Amino acid sequence: MHILVVEDEQKVASFIQRGLEGEGFTVDVANDGESGVELGSKNNYDLILMDIMLPKMDGLEAVKALRANDVTSPVLCLTAKDTVEDIVAGLDVGSDDYLTKPFAFAELLARVRSLVRRGTQERGAEITYADLRLDPVAHKVWRGDSEIDLTAKEYALLEFFMRNPETTLTRTMIAEHVWDYTFDSFTNIIDVYVNYLRKKVDRDHAKKLIHTVRGIGYVLKED
Ligand code: CA
Repeated sequence: MHILVVEDEQKVASFIQRGLEGEGFTVDVANDGESGVELGSKNNYDLILMDIMLPKMDGLEAVKALRANDVTSPVLCLTAKDTVEDIVAGLDVGSDDYLTKPFAFAELLARVRSLVRRGTQERGAEITYADLRLDPVAHKVWRGDSEIDLTAKEYALLEFFMRNPETTLTRTMIAEHVWDYTFDSFTNIIDVYVNYLRKKVDRDHAKKLIHTVRGIGYVLKED
């Protein structure tokens, strides 16, 4: 897995690079927008991490230029800004997700894994975990042979779990992915929804799949 990090702050760039290399990724670093576009267009990266505030060409312009060059690598924007307008602007020019600075490395890693997985999966391919099966095109879910009837939010929550199996998901990560980028006092809502989901996914089965990680969040796993 080959990742490009476009970041002008040396400290941040090497923090990300060392972390990702420690997880087995191969990492290239570009220090400005122009060289980011150049490298990103030349190599077929599995993911591009793009800072927004960059010399020579800002991150949004760089994403635009990459997409104009038909680069389809998923792009995760790193931004110090977190206003809705900035996030929407980033997504509008063709980035796939964003992360607000400062961030915990675990959070970055979860996003990276999710995007890399999404990028390498055939678009629309079914996702399976244990005896769960999810069809991202039809928005349908089955456990074994029985279809599970989910609301839109329950579905989004389960999809997030299934795209990140055996990974502890913090409430912050869940809030940002499933609840449209805002996360004030979401803890209770998340707990409530996870309980709804559990009733539908696990209640009638001896083997439980959604587990609580005390004080941290939740994990989808088989035991
Ligand atoms: Ca910067």
